Amino acid sequence: MARFATNVPPTDPIFDAARSSLVPAPIDHEAIVVGAGFGGLGAAIELKRLGIDDLVILERASGVGGTWHANRYPGVAVDIASATYSFSFEPNPDWTRIYAPGSELKAYAEHVADKYDLARHVQLDVEVLGAAWDDIHQRWAVELADGPTLTARYLVVATGILSQPRKPAIPGIDDFAGKVLYTSSWPESDRLTAERVAVIGTGATAVQVVPELAAHAASVAVFQRTPIWVTPKPDLPIPRPVREVFRRVPATQRAARYANAAFIEYIGLGLVAFERAPWILESLETVSKAHLRLQVRDRATREALTPDYNFFCKRPTFSNSYYKAFNHDHVDLVAAPIDHIDSCAVITEDGKRREIDTLVLATGFHLQEEGNFPAFPVRGRDGVELGARWREHGYESYEGITVNGYPNLFCLTSPFSFTGLSFFYQAESQMAHMARVITELRRRHSVTFEVKPHAQNRFVKQMDAKVEHSLWAHGDCASANSYYFNADGATRLGRLEPTVIVKWRSTHFPLADYRFETVTDPAVRQAARADAPPIPAAAKR
Ligand code: NAP
Repeated sequence: MARFATNVPPTDPIFDAARSSLVPAPIDHEAIVVGAGFGGLGAAIELKRLGIDDLVILERASGVGGTWHANRYPGVAVDIASATYSFSFEPNPDWTRIYAPGSELKAYAEHVADKYDLARHVQLDVEVLGAAWDDIHQRWAVELADGPTLTARYLVVATGILSQPRKPAIPGIDDFAGKVLYTSSWPESDRLTAERVAVIGTGATAVQVVPELAAHAASVAVFQRTPIWVTPKPDLPIPRPVREVFRRVPATQRAARYANAAFIEYIGLGLVAFERAPWILESLETVSKAHLRLQVRDRATREALTPDYNFFCKRPTFSNSYYKAFNHDHVDLVAAPIDHIDSCAVITEDGKRREIDTLVLATGFHLQEEGNFPAFPVRGRDGVELGARWREHGYESYEGITVNGYPNLFCLTSPFSFTGLSFFYQAESQMAHMARVITELRRRHSVTFEVKPHAQNRFVKQMDAKVEHSLWAHGDCASANSYYFNADGATRLGRLEPTVIVKWRSTHFPLADYRFETVTDPAVRQAARADAPPIPAAAKR
């Protein structure tokens, strides 16, 4: 059954000639959202606010919450204060700590799904294999691993960047005969009590898991390739009376939200305006070094834990217990590179062999160059796969959410999607952008939207220009081994603008940056897109 009006005259004169050939195509759903993390839930809330009730949210996992559903390792907690790390329109007065544990984030995701009537739209344990734009029928076809191909007018890709765990390419790793645990698929409440454990990786995840393992395991060897900047975490329980005040007077929690947001925005300013104000990040290096000095007794260990790159070249983190863990006799920091792993030990290049029972892989996730951007193949109007196009022809998007050549697609994990502050500021800006595009599309009685190529080029140039004044151009980042940088040194993952500007742009970007089309003869549509340069054939698969 057709789900959109065909009897409304197009307002754009381009389509007048083709009015007689209006051909509505049937669709299974008006919108498909892939991913039920907070990005996908936020997008679905926005679509429903726009009156789009015919939507499905496809989720690979067995529950909602994305990273907070998957990550159950000991010590998992948010490292952005919870008053800020939540939807502004859905404050949660029940956080028990300033930095809530992961289980509370998971419960918050379920609460959001219930309250905003999303649960009935969510299909769990559904894996998407790929999506392709059907330009004849102007709809997306979404292929599932187990089930019929679904069609929809709009596709929202909300798979996040931290969804595909990365197995390190260490020789012999597959020969290891003991237990291997990825931090992102940790067995419920397993603390590896009395086991000899090796942790590979020292990113934000390892910083949370190492102190917990140190408290329970027989021994912990932490294999570090690149040290991480760690500052103190002002984490305290939120007493019941304070929670009651947050509940009764929501303005108090909003004040906490904005105070914390202002602080994070200030740190972000240090990144964006490093050329002019290097002292912002330098002061955080000083704080972090003092924290290390106060917490770790052994000088050699302190030196090994000290990064030799600037703060924020790589994502820093916050912890009051990570550094202290290295004071225990049974916890070893191993800075020597790993040579190989055999059936029962990790062997470093200095010839030392450490026998272990369990290997913990805190080695991060597949990102840009590794085929997880987006998380499954997405073919656009010319059959070009989006990930291949980005990898081979540069990481480009418009406002971190749409891409020329991919009509009716909101890709929430695009180049420049990632803004500072908490993830929720990014999610809400993207929700506002979606609302503005869809509202305009309806006002024009159109069926598709697509960002114009010159608008995308203009945006990318603006973003590249901002790097010129930032830490990433002026700081010492060579040894950081940071996922903020592509293999070619480009920094197109994050958006170097204050979050308030990103938010303002989401409601003020020029609508003329989009082309809105109505169902017409495909040849007429092609002629109307004469300004669109062809996508390089090499990127076509
Ligand atoms: P990550 O930051 O990518 O860290 C991976 C670690 O594994 C790095 O120390 C890396 O070393 C190491 N590694 C990877 N391959 C290796 C190899 N072959 N040999 C030796 N070491 C290897 O991953 P993550 O710690 O899971 O954190 C990912 C992101 O999740 C964070 O950046 C953050 O955005 C997010 N996170 C957020 C929270 C929160 O509370 N909000 C908590 C945890 C994580 P190199 O540094 O040398 O590459």
